[in-house]
Amino acid sequence: MATLELDHVTKGFDDGDETIIAVDDVSMTIDDGEFLVLVGPSGCGKSTTLRMMAGLETVSTGALRLDDEVINDVKPKDREVAMVFQSYALYPHMTVSGNMRFGLEESTDMSDERIQSRVTETAALLDIDALLDRKPAELSGGQQQRVALGRAIVRDPQVFLMDEPLSNLDAKLRSDMRTELQRLQEDLGTTTVYVTHDQTEAMTMGDRIAILNDGRLQQVATPLEAYHRPANRFVAGFIGEPSMNFFEMDVQGEQLIHSTTQSQPHEDTVTYPLPQDARHAVADGTQVTLGVRPASIEVTQAPGPVEFVSKVSADHDFEAVVDVVEPMGNENNVHLSFSEKNHTTFVATTDGESNVATGQSVIAHIPESAIHLFDGDTGEALYNRSHTDTEAVESVQ
Ligand code: ATP
Repeated sequence: MATLELDHVTKGFDDGDETIIAVDDVSMTIDDGEFLVLVGPSGCGKSTTLRMMAGLETVSTGALRLDDEVINDVKPKDREVAMVFQSYALYPHMTVSGNMRFGLEESTDMSDERIQSRVTETAALLDIDALLDRKPAELSGGQQQRVALGRAIVRDPQVFLMDEPLSNLDAKLRSDMRTELQRLQEDLGTTTVYVTHDQTEAMTMGDRIAILNDGRLQQVATPLEAYHRPANRFVAGFIGEPSMNFFEMDVQGEQLIHSTTQSQPHEDTVTYPLPQDARHAVADGTQVTLGVRPASIEVTQAPGPVEFVSKVSADHDFEAVVDVVEPMGNENNVHLSFSEKNHTTFVATTDGESNVATGQSVIAHIPESAIHLFDGDTGEALYNRSHTDTEAVESVQ
């Protein structure tokens, strides 16, 4: 087991005249025994980061340390890390047993008996002991994935590096394997870095998640911290499904004003009172982004025929009209717009049994306790919704 540290790590690829910065000054520590998920959109530098950890890419600047020892120049086979790829990368001409033995035979001087007993133990752990004599072509995708994992586990590495290992599996198998991988990692206690672009995997699997965008590290936090206390607008929008709603607002005294046109501010204006405890965080006259998660918006039916003005009696209630309802079974994602004059759209998640239909007039309640405010220029979080860890745990269950 080991601690892996990235200390101002940068990776640039030379591409003719220019250098593509794939990973930009990333610093973080993955603790001994931790399961860290590296997540971010396509091209953000996840695989490059992992490949540097494996020794498959060089580090341009900065230091990579395994238990305080700089390993920038240590060869992949000498790093005591094992990588599991999305493509499984099994040798087609070898049996399952051969695939699992190969790494050990190549990189250690372990006796044949010792290797065989490692393979047998690991195969039993992964429930593939009946498949040891088969070739990869005779296995299902899920079984091939287990063999790829087995090949990493037999090596008993200091660190597992996994690059989207479940993305070739169907949704059901993927969900089963997620749970199984977590259990395995917990049992083995091996430090693990797991790359995915799937925020559901990030939320459910990791002790902590590291969110990358455009080569830069945005936040390293527990999944619940990232969800409830995002460091910036990017993290807020990336973590959570459906995504957080964002409204561009002008700070005017104790009000936040959202308007789609400048010419007739009164007809399309949505006004939201600035929470008392957020006043110190935002400056009058600046622009901020108000964020609220779909699950935090309460939707109720409008009491009767309504004329569309954007604000109704209560400060945090808004008249809205239903554009589209996406039934998900246990809940509905309801796409709304504020009024006929302000076409700003947003999404609210309602109970699957609630009766909302396209074209219906509703009241959307946006509670003060659920809002986030981000700097209009930098996207940095200025104010995050109030929550305690206990609350967060309850809301996820
Ligand atoms: P994905 O989820 O699509 O696999 P990723 O987050 O893993 O993406 P990387 O593969 O790490 O992203 O790529 C990060 C950036 O570096 C991209 O812009 C990519 O085009 C660039 N890049 C990666 N490898 C090379 C290379 N060998 N030469 C030049 N540019 C590269």
